[in-house]
Amino acid sequence: MLNKKFIGAHVSAAGGVENAPIRAKEIGANAFALFTKNQRQWVAKPLTQKSIDSFKKNCAALGYSSQQILPHDSYLINLGAPEEEKLEKSRAAFIDEMERCEQLGLTLLNFHPGSHLKKISESECLARIAESINLAHQAVPNVIAVIENTAGQGTNLGWKFEHIAEIIEQVADKSRVGVCLDTCHTFVAGYDLRTAEACEHTFAEFDRIVGMHYLRAMHINDSKIALGGKVDRHHSLGEGEIGWECFKYISQDSRFDEIPLILETIEPERWQDEIQALRSFSV
Ligand SMILES: [Zn+2]
Ligand SMILES: [Zn+2]
Repeated sequence: MLNKKFIGAHVSAAGGVENAPIRAKEIGANAFALFTKNQRQWVAKPLTQKSIDSFKKNCAALGYSSQQILPHDSYLINLGAPEEEKLEKSRAAFIDEMERCEQLGLTLLNFHPGSHLKKISESECLARIAESINLAHQAVPNVIAVIENTAGQGTNLGWKFEHIAEIIEQVADKSRVGVCLDTCHTFVAGYDLRTAEACEHTFAEFDRIVGMHYLRAMHINDSKIALGGKVDRHHSLGEGEIGWECFKYISQDSRFDEIPLILETIEPERWQDEIQALRSFSV
């Protein structure tokens, strides 16, 4: 039987991107996330042909298609940056990230939308983010820009579903823009997920404001912070303020089929058990 739930974790790419699928397999994942370069540096060496070839070979051998892999961009990038110089630098780095995905045969690129740093209005920042996506689309074919909703910490935008809708509205190629909902971020941004009814309501809101067809991935995390706390602190599943009911709901709902469901929980040694638990709900 074809397994429609793609469940995994954000695994290390230390020693080369080709190691990520091996690490994912070790924890029983049929999906994974990775950084294709050091996430805390602006510039990285290009991927070598050898690394690209073995990444593709390992993915094929271990059964990972591009649909099951969610690369994440560098934390330094701010696609809505108020200063011209930082914006240019971010846009160039984002295009480089997209090119790396393209080289690896990957079609999704997960990123945090950006921050206004109290120097420009929310709308202006959202317009810059949309324009950054448009520029990346023009530079690189095929790769889908997957906007992650944020916790709403500091001046980060993208915590309200309306922010995401406003970005998408201004993206020219809507077939190449999507959303990754992080359960921790969703919850601390003020959308309840603690019960099946709360999940029903929150995802209905997302569908109404953004559209469920834009959902391309999920980050599955519990939260150390209470509902609406606007602080991003992940927790192991079932240990935080959200609780198992939400993760059970997502595992059992077909709207979350065939998209990467990625753990970014705080104890990697639990990932195998967390994956198994999520899988046990889905069958
Ligand atoms: Zn996340
Ligand atoms: Zn987070």
